[in-house]
Amino acid sequence: MIPGKLTRSLEPYTAGEQPKEKTIKLNTNENPYPPSPAVARALAEFDPAAYRLYPDPTALALREAIAEREGVKPENVFVGNGSDEVLSFAFAAFFGGEDLPVVFADVTYSFYRVFGSLYGVPYREVPLTADMRMDIPAMAAAAPSACGAVFADPNAPTSIAEKREDLLALVEAYAGKAVIADEAYGDFSRMPSLVPYTAKYDNLLVVKTFSKSRSLAGARCGYAIGDERLINALRTVKNCFNSYPVNAVTAVAAKAAIEDDAYFRECVSRIIDTRARLTDGLRELGFVLPDSDANFVFASHPRMSGEELQRALRARGIVVRRFDAPRTRDSLRVTVGTDADTSVLLDSLKEIVKEKNLL
Ligand code: PMP
Repeated sequence: MIPGKLTRSLEPYTAGEQPKEKTIKLNTNENPYPPSPAVARALAEFDPAAYRLYPDPTALALREAIAEREGVKPENVFVGNGSDEVLSFAFAAFFGGEDLPVVFADVTYSFYRVFGSLYGVPYREVPLTADMRMDIPAMAAAAPSACGAVFADPNAPTSIAEKREDLLALVEAYAGKAVIADEAYGDFSRMPSLVPYTAKYDNLLVVKTFSKSRSLAGARCGYAIGDERLINALRTVKNCFNSYPVNAVTAVAAKAAIEDDAYFRECVSRIIDTRARLTDGLRELGFVLPDSDANFVFASHPRMSGEELQRALRARGIVVRRFDAPRTRDSLRVTVGTDADTSVLLDSLKEIVKEKNLL
């Protein structure tokens, strides 16, 4: 039958809209600034004749550059076609075929559920606490009857980062079972990365992306850092899908991006400054939101529904994301854009709440 039995049971992830018309696009957490100028130089130097050959299946030159930046060895680095692919391989590598569930928060990156169903992995969703934080003690308590755990830190779409010691206690509770720390937004966090702890905990895999802090969402490149045994398991799965997940051009662009530390720091710090301005501006207009550790904020207005707000912004040419589930439907996930984008957004929201006599 078409589609086949597995596909009929799947509910795929829905990516944020990529509108064709000109908008202020604050819905998919892309970086508002271009990639490092070193990327443009590296691409200009790329010889199309090199396209004749398959790329290096392990992307060694890129892994070496990542290893140097992250303070690990190239053997501890795996690269893939976006961190979504890396996460997908990780689900297959560590949880595929297991009978016990993988544990994650009920409000988190919705792709985890999709990967679970794709690989037939049962999952257990642990509800966030009332203040929308991860219930780490409950997740840790589930360890004996689980095959592993995955979390995003900062979490999506809440923008909240947890304390390092709490996350490390979770990793310890899962000793002998894989724990995936998805740090897609980690470069914008006030908390340091968990990467240094991969040397101590052989069950901890940290996943990062070039899509957000390195402005390379279109290039599709993500990576994982962990003990060699975890990396080898990822490589086994990769070689069951596609020997060359990182194409030759992307490998060159990503290498140039990760080597330009000064540009990276400047870009991230600009976004963090704008995030503070956006947070203050939203609170002045009566919005409620946690302090964000990501390149987006997660904001609601106590007297307007999320749907109404999203529609009113869209009518003004501003696109934001909303997740239509019980605990998230009245909040907007708004990417931190440029300062100019932020001014337009705040002015528009001011008009919207004024029209409703809420200011
Ligand atoms: N993890 C989280 C929490 C995300 O929000 C995203 C972006 N949708 C990703 C991973 C994947 O990003 P990419 O595939 O572009 O690396």
